[in-house]
Amino acid sequence: MRVVFVGPPGVGKGTQAQRLAERRGMVKISTGDVLREAVRQGTPLGVRAKAFMDAGSLVPDDLVIGMLSERLAGDDTARGCLLDGFPRTIAQAEALEKMLARRGEALDLVVAFEADHEVIVDRLSGRRSCPRCGKVYHVRFDPSPAGARCGGCGAELVQREDDREATIRRRLKVYEEETAPLLAYYRDRGLLVQVDGTAPIDAVAARVDEALNAPRPA
Ligand code: AMP
Repeated sequence: MRVVFVGPPGVGKGTQAQRLAERRGMVKISTGDVLREAVRQGTPLGVRAKAFMDAGSLVPDDLVIGMLSERLAGDDTARGCLLDGFPRTIAQAEALEKMLARRGEALDLVVAFEADHEVIVDRLSGRRSCPRCGKVYHVRFDPSPAGARCGGCGAELVQREDDREATIRRRLKVYEEETAPLLAYYRDRGLLVQVDGTAPIDAVAARVDEALNAPRPA
């Protein structure tokens, strides 16, 4: 299956993507994670992307589309993949459609996670992530069993630069302006399923599974 997760920052799509990929053995591509790794390694892409990310803006389409197209070319995505955080603009959605069409493929489902913006600010300011393995926690809603360290690999958890309140508000504005139009785009194509991202993590996961299992036109 080829599935896209879309939604405002902090709605829980990364957590759900991580869990769904583990449950179903799907290859997950999180463009935010790929970009953060590029920044960490100081690659040319990372150097160009960093200022946009720190400011809470989107990285320009040509950079992100180029990066995703390289990643999708890997053999491991031939049987399907889960895209978390891509596309984020109509131009990216159109580019994705073309990339898949060239391989005789198409998206099966787009899951849109929704939440009130104040809930999101609360969630993101408590978010902590593992700089080594990428696992994500929340100090109150989903704490690491190892306290300030990652329950998976033991590295010290960090707060992302862009999870500070002013940047979160800027990211929400960018979402409304640039990414929210994707909902109508995918609704028109009959691919959209909307999920309440404020429900408990397991309930959201169950709703995502239900959407993936629902019969779809061939
Ligand atoms: P995320 O971890 O998905 O919240 O992404 C973190 C940051 O990476 C975003 O705020 C953007 O600056 C950048 N980013 C991730 N995915 C994309 C994308 N598809 N298009 C543009 N920028 C992106």
